[in-house]
Amino acid sequence: MEYSPLSAEKERLIRLLKEAGFLRSESVERAFRLVPREEFVPEDLRSLAYADRPLPIGFGQTISAPSIVVYMTELLDASRGMKVLEVGTGSGYQAAVLAEIVAPTGAPRTEWGHVWTIEIIEELAERAKRNLERAGYSDRVTVIVGDGSKGYPREAPYHRIMVTAASPDVPRPLVGQLVVGGRMVVPVGDLVSQTLMVVERRPEGIKSKSVLDVVFVPLRGEYGWKNYETRMFT
Ligand code: SAM
Repeated sequence: MEYSPLSAEKERLIRLLKEAGFLRSESVERAFRLVPREEFVPEDLRSLAYADRPLPIGFGQTISAPSIVVYMTELLDASRGMKVLEVGTGSGYQAAVLAEIVAPTGAPRTEWGHVWTIEIIEELAERAKRNLERAGYSDRVTVIVGDGSKGYPREAPYHRIMVTAASPDVPRPLVGQLVVGGRMVVPVGDLVSQTLMVVERRPEGIKSKSVLDVVFVPLRGEYGWKNYETRMFT
C-alpha cells in the first residue's frame, strides 16, 4: 500500500470507526478503504478527507461524515450483483462506496451489480460525474438529474434504496420501487432532526424500524419538502 499522510489518516479513521461500532463488516471496510474520499471533497479541503465530519460541497449541501456513510452502508446490507438506487448524489462518494460493494473492483464484470444515483441540483450532478470518473467508478454508477423523491422508475425494481437527504415521511414511490425482499434506508423527520429508518418490503407487507437520530439536509421535491428552496452557494 502506498504511504501518504492521507492513507495513514484513513487507517486511523478505520480503527476509530470499528472501535465505535459504526464499521462492522468486511465488505464495508474493504469499500471504505478502496474508495478515495479525497477525490469527492473540494480541492481546498482534501486534507480533511479523513476527519470524521461532514464537509461543504457547494450549493448549501454536504458530503456526509464517514461515520454516517459507513453506518448507513452497513444498515443497507447490499451485496455483489445487486441493483441499488441512491437518492441525493451530492459529491458521488456514497454512490462509489455502494458500487464497490455491488460491483467490486477486480470481480468478473458478469457478477457486477449497478448503482443509479439521482441528484436534483444539476451542477452537483455534473461535478459528481467528474469525481466518479476520476476515482474509477463511472462504469458502475449512473448519475441522473431529477427529483429522486419520486425514485427512478425506469430502472426499478431495486434490491436496495438509500436516501441521503431528510424526508418528512418514507417517500411512497420509493417503497413501490423495491423488490419484494428489498430494503431501504432513509432519514425521516422534520427539518431540524430525523431518525434513520430501515424499511423492508416483505411478502406480507412493509416492516420498518427506527435506528438512530441523525441530521441531514432536506429532501426536496414532490414527496419531500415541496416548497423548500436551496440557498445558492457556490
Ligand atoms: N450522498 C451524498 C454524498 O455522498 O456526497 C451526500 C448527500 S447530501 C447530504 C444530500 C443531497 O441530496 C444534496 O446534494 C441535495 O441536493 C440532494 N437532494 C435533495 N433533494 C433531492 C431530491 N428530491 N432528489 C435528488 N436529490 C436531492
